[in-house]
Amino acid sequence: MVIPVTLTAYCALIVAVSLLGGLAPLALVLSHTRLQVYLSFAAGTMLGAAFFHMLPEAVAMGGPDTVKWASLGLLALFLLERFFAYHQHEPAEVAHHHHGHDEAGEHLAPALSWGTATFGLAVHSLIGGVALATAVVADAKEQGRVGGMAWGVFLATVLHKPADAMTVVSLMLRAGVAPRLAHLVNLGFALMIPVGAGLFFVGVDRLGPSNAESLTAAALSFSAGTFLCISLSDLLPELQFHAHDRLKLSVALLAGFLLMAATSTLE
Ligand SMILES: [Zn+2]
Ligand SMILES: [Zn+2]
Repeated sequence: MVIPVTLTAYCALIVAVSLLGGLAPLALVLSHTRLQVYLSFAAGTMLGAAFFHMLPEAVAMGGPDTVKWASLGLLALFLLERFFAYHQHEPAEVAHHHHGHDEAGEHLAPALSWGTATFGLAVHSLIGGVALATAVVADAKEQGRVGGMAWGVFLATVLHKPADAMTVVSLMLRAGVAPRLAHLVNLGFALMIPVGAGLFFVGVDRLGPSNAESLTAAALSFSAGTFLCISLSDLLPELQFHAHDRLKLSVALLAGFLLMAATSTLE
C-alpha cells in the first residue's frame, strides 16, 4: 500500500516542479552565475544519489555483478545525449554572450531543434521514472517501508527536473512556437515520469517474484549509471566553459553531494 501512495505523491510533485520550471524559465529569473550554481548543486545530488544510494542498494540486492548494468545505463544516456543533444540547459546565445569567446560557439552542439531535444528529454524522463519506481520498490523490499534511498532519488529528481523543463520550453519559445503549445509539450514531458514508473511495474508484474528481485537490482544499477551520466554531462562543461566562480560552483556541487551522503546515513 505504501508503494503506490508514495510513488503517486512523488510523481505529482515532480510533475508540479517541471511545470513551474517551464512557466518561469529559470534562465530568465536567475543570473548566469546563479543558474550555474543551481545546476552544480543539482548535479551533485545526482552524483551522490548514484554512489550513496543506488549502487550500494543494487549490489546488496543483486550482488557485485549488478554493477555491470550501471555501465550500460551510463552509455545509453551518453548516446542519447550525443544524438539528441537535449541536455544543454543554458540557451547557447546567453552562454556565448556571457563568456564572450568566439570559440565557444563552435564547440557547442549544433543548433538544437526542439523536436529532437524534446524526444531526448522525453526518453530521459521515462528512464527517470523507472529509476524512481525502482528506488521506491527496492526500499520497500529491503526494509518494508519507504526509506532513505527512495527519498534520495526523489530529491535528486525533483532538483533536476526544472532544468530539463526550462530546456524544453526555452528551446520551443526561441523557435517561435506558441507558448501554449510549449507548455503543453512540457506537461507531456513531465508526465513521462509517471509513465516510466508505470512501465517498471508492468515489467515487474510479468516476472515471478525471484526474477522481479533481480530485475529490480539490475534496473537500480542501470538507473545509477544514467544518474552518473546526467551528473557528469552537467558538470564537465563547467571545466571548459565556466572558469568564473569556481569556488561557488564547487561549494554548490559538494553541498548537493554531501546532502545525498547525509541522507544515506539515515537508513
Ligand atoms: Zn535532465
Ligand atoms: Zn559561465
